[in-house]
Amino acid sequence: MKAETLCIHLSKEQKISGRSGVNTPIETSSAFRTLNAPEIYYPRYFNTLNHEVVARKISALEGGSTALIFSSGMAAISTALFAVVSAGDHVLFQNELYGGTHYFALSELPQHGIDVELTYPEPGSILQKIRPNTKLIYLETPSNPLLSITDLGAIAQIAKKQGIITIVDNTFATPLFQKPLELGIDIVIHSGTKYLGGHSDLCCGVVVSSQKWMDAVRHKAINLGGCLDAQSCYLLERSLKTLVIRVERQTQNAQTLAEALEKNANIARVYYPGLTSHPGHTLAKKQMTGFGAMLSFDVASHIDPSRFLQELELIAPALSLGGVESTICQPITSSHSKVSKDICQKMGITAALFRLSVGIEHQQDLISDLFQALEISIF
Ligand SMILES: *Cc1c(COP(=O)(O)O)cnc(C)c1O
Repeated sequence: MKAETLCIHLSKEQKISGRSGVNTPIETSSAFRTLNAPEIYYPRYFNTLNHEVVARKISALEGGSTALIFSSGMAAISTALFAVVSAGDHVLFQNELYGGTHYFALSELPQHGIDVELTYPEPGSILQKIRPNTKLIYLETPSNPLLSITDLGAIAQIAKKQGIITIVDNTFATPLFQKPLELGIDIVIHSGTKYLGGHSDLCCGVVVSSQKWMDAVRHKAINLGGCLDAQSCYLLERSLKTLVIRVERQTQNAQTLAEALEKNANIARVYYPGLTSHPGHTLAKKQMTGFGAMLSFDVASHIDPSRFLQELELIAPALSLGGVESTICQPITSSHSKVSKDICQKMGITAALFRLSVGIEHQQDLISDLFQALEISIF
């Protein structure tokens, strides 16, 4: 089945028997009769009905064999990491990452005896940094906030040869536009809080992989306990049903906005993989089937960045992303405020940079809002 159908229906083999409603009933029990039961059910075992159904849908979308649904993206990320690395291991993280992941890697993992190193996500740089004890390479593409594109196939190949595990945060691309497992990546992560939830009313995370890695992740997940409750699993399943039409429209809007911003004299630079000016455009065309709905831009030096943010009327200044409503943030004061100034400077994250999550509003209303705020904010 194609993605549009998978978001709505389980396949014949995936169906859970004895149900007739078109929607999954919300199963709230935390106690299940165990007498003669073939399996022990419990919310923290990640195996209740609502969990199972949504996990099956998302793993089908990613082309993985199993998925686990967590209470946040960070719960998914931390559990997956602790499942595959331990004291004495060396881990390579892409240098440009979601701020929370960056902070987690640098502040938590070393406390557990794990040697963390940041790297440019290019085959050459990675090859140079691999050591005998390198256990994992962690990637994110398109990256946050500059939307740079990492060659997943090339890095997966290097890692496989050396027996190194690869993890990709696929939040920005969504399973619709990028399937890392098909490119040879071992484990895929989503902050489901973003596009999978899609309505800015749900916090959740997902790990998808082949059965080989999932046994370790499930074991760690049960110990760490970051499961998602039944009501939220249901809400996530409900959101998934419109994933394709939401993300398609958001992506069309993002392309139009990126092109309009690139032509505007109040903008210095636009970062969007769908623009031919983007350094990752060719690679994105090769490994993705759509460019996604996140874009960033630098306002020109004659624009007052904080005024610009205040003058927006429609687009909400907000940290999260992926919702049906457009949101904007200034990474240096929000998502990346915990990343050292030095690293931000090196990556090009300055006060002029804004990250825009494009929603499903009408393109013209979004463009008008951005343009009017820019005009008022000229120094
Ligand atoms: C938001 C986000 C996360 C963290 O997810 P939470 O649901 O906030 O815990 C991880 N990676 C990316 C790319 C994100 O955008």
